[in-house]
Amino acid sequence: MLDEENTRGRNAAPLPPEIARRRTFAIISHPDAGKTTLTEKLLLYGGAIQAAGQVRAKGEARRTRSDFMKLEQERGISVSASAMSFEWGGYWLNLVDTPGHEDFSEDTYRTLTAVDAAIMVIDGAKGVESQTRKLFEVCRLRDLPILTFCNKMDRESRDTFEIIDEIQEMLALDVTPASWPIGMGRDFLGAYDLIGDRLELMSRADRNRKAESLAIQGLEDPALAGHVPADQLETLREEVEMARGLLPALDPRAVLEGHMTPIWFGSAINSFGVSELLAGIGRLAPPPQPRRTLSRQVTADEDKVSGFVFKVQANMDPKHRDRVAFLRLCSGHFQRGMKLRHVRTAKQMAISSPVLFLAAERETAEDAWAGDIIGIPNHGQLRIGDALTEGEDLRFAGIPAFAPELLQAVRAGDPMKAKHLDKALMQFAEEGAAKVFKPTIGGAWIVGVVGALQFDVLASRIEGEYGLPVRLEQTQFSGARWITGPKEALERFAAQNKGHMATDHDGDPVYLTRLQWDIDRVGRDWPDLTLSATKETL
Ligand code: GDP
Repeated sequence: MLDEENTRGRNAAPLPPEIARRRTFAIISHPDAGKTTLTEKLLLYGGAIQAAGQVRAKGEARRTRSDFMKLEQERGISVSASAMSFEWGGYWLNLVDTPGHEDFSEDTYRTLTAVDAAIMVIDGAKGVESQTRKLFEVCRLRDLPILTFCNKMDRESRDTFEIIDEIQEMLALDVTPASWPIGMGRDFLGAYDLIGDRLELMSRADRNRKAESLAIQGLEDPALAGHVPADQLETLREEVEMARGLLPALDPRAVLEGHMTPIWFGSAINSFGVSELLAGIGRLAPPPQPRRTLSRQVTADEDKVSGFVFKVQANMDPKHRDRVAFLRLCSGHFQRGMKLRHVRTAKQMAISSPVLFLAAERETAEDAWAGDIIGIPNHGQLRIGDALTEGEDLRFAGIPAFAPELLQAVRAGDPMKAKHLDKALMQFAEEGAAKVFKPTIGGAWIVGVVGALQFDVLASRIEGEYGLPVRLEQTQFSGARWITGPKEALERFAAQNKGHMATDHDGDPVYLTRLQWDIDRVGRDWPDLTLSATKETL
C-alpha cells in the first residue's frame, strides 16, 4: 500500500504515480556490519514476493555481488558500485550499491549524490564505527533521510538502550525504535514491531524466511504469552514502556528532513527484520526528490527528462572497450531511443541501448522514470557530473571530487608505449578511478588516490585492459590541492613554483605539496589564492 502522505516531493504537489512509488536508496555501513548480506536478502524478498511467496534459489541472489573484476574476487571486496531495481509491495525500489571498503570512499560519496535516502547498517555488538560515521556525515551534508538497521541480533549484542544512545550522541540524531528486540544472542526470539503492532518471530530452521508474523493488540495481549517465555515478556514490556517514555515518537516529517532515524533490530543472515525494513523504506523514505542545478531546482514531476552521471564503469564486459555511465534520472519519463542533449559538449546523443539493472540480470531499458538509475554504454563521451537533458543547459550541482591523499609517479614498463599510458590514465581519470596530474616539469604522470588499494587496482587494470605493464614509484609529493584565484596572481604563483605545479585531466591548475608547511605557506604568502581539497565536478 502506498502511503498518501509520502507520495509527494518535500514541498510539492502529488507526483505522478509511477514516480511516487519509486524509492532510490543506498546502504551505508562499516565493513563487516552486514551490508552485502542485507542487500542479498532485500533482493531475495523482492524476488520472493513476485514469485508468489516462493523464495528463490540462493544462487540468484549471489549474482547481486558485482563480480566484474578479478581483483574483487581475489580480495573478496566489492570494488565497483552498481545499481539494482526490484519491486516490493507496490513500490519500485532502486538500490544503489556502494563499495564497502574504506579505500573506495570517494566512489561511495558520489553514489550518495544519486540517492534520496540511505539505510545505515550497524553491528549490534559494535555500534557506530568509524566508516559508518564518515558516511553518515556525507549524508548529513544533504540532509538525506536515514533508516537504521541494527544487525546481528542473533549474536551477543549491546544493550538496546545503549545502542540507541550511542547513535543519538555520536551522530546528533534523534532515534526512534521502529521495532524492539526480544532477547539477544542465543535467546534472540524476534522483535516487537512498534509501527505495525505485530510480533515478529525469527526462524532458526530456515535462514531465508521469517518464522511467524502475528498481529497483536498491544503488549498486554494474552496471545503474546503463547509465544514469548514469561521472563522475556516481562522484560519486553518494561523496556518498551521505558522506551516510549524516554525516546521520541516516530515523526515522519523529521525522518524526511534527516533529523530523526527509525531503527529496526534484526538479523540479515536469518532474513529477520528485512520485510519490516522494506515496509519502512516504502513508508518513510521519500520519492524522488528535487535536485539543485546551477540555474534552478529540477523537480521529479517535470515533463522533460534530465539526469546526471554519478559513476562511470569501464569494461563491465571484458570483451568490449565500452564503458557504462550510470545516470540518475532527475525528472521526466525516459524512453529508449530518445535523443538527449549532452550539456558539456552541446551535442545530441541518441540513447539507443540503455541498461536497466534488474535484480536478476541486466536488461535493456524500454523506459524509466525520475528516480531510476540507467546505464548508458558509451565510448568515453560521458564523464562523472555530465548532464543529459531534452535541451536545457542544466548543470547539476554538488558532485564532489576529492583531493587524493596518496600520490605515486607512474611510468610505462615499455617506454615505447608511453602514448598508450597517457590514454589509459585519462580514461581512468574521467571514470573517477583516480586523479591524474601532469606536472609542469618532468615527464612522469602522477596518480593520486584516496586509498592505497586503488594503486593496485589501477596497475592491474592498465595491464589487463591495455596490455601495458606499468611501474608505480615513490614521488616527492604527498598531497595535491586545486588552486584558484585571480589570473594574474595565479600566473605569478605558477611561474615561481614551477616544480610544484601540475594540471588535472580537465586542465585545471593543481599545486602539488610535500608537507603541510607548503599549504600553510601559500595561505600566508598568497592571500588572493585559494587552495582547495575538493572540486565540484561542475
Ligand atoms: P559487509 O562487509 O558489510 O558487506 O558484511 P557481510 O554482509 O559480508 O557480512 C560480514 C559477516 O557477517 C559475514 O560473515 C556474514 O555472514 C556475517 N553476518 C551478516 N549478517 C549477520 C547476522 O545477522 N548474524 C550473524 N551472526 N552474522 C551475520
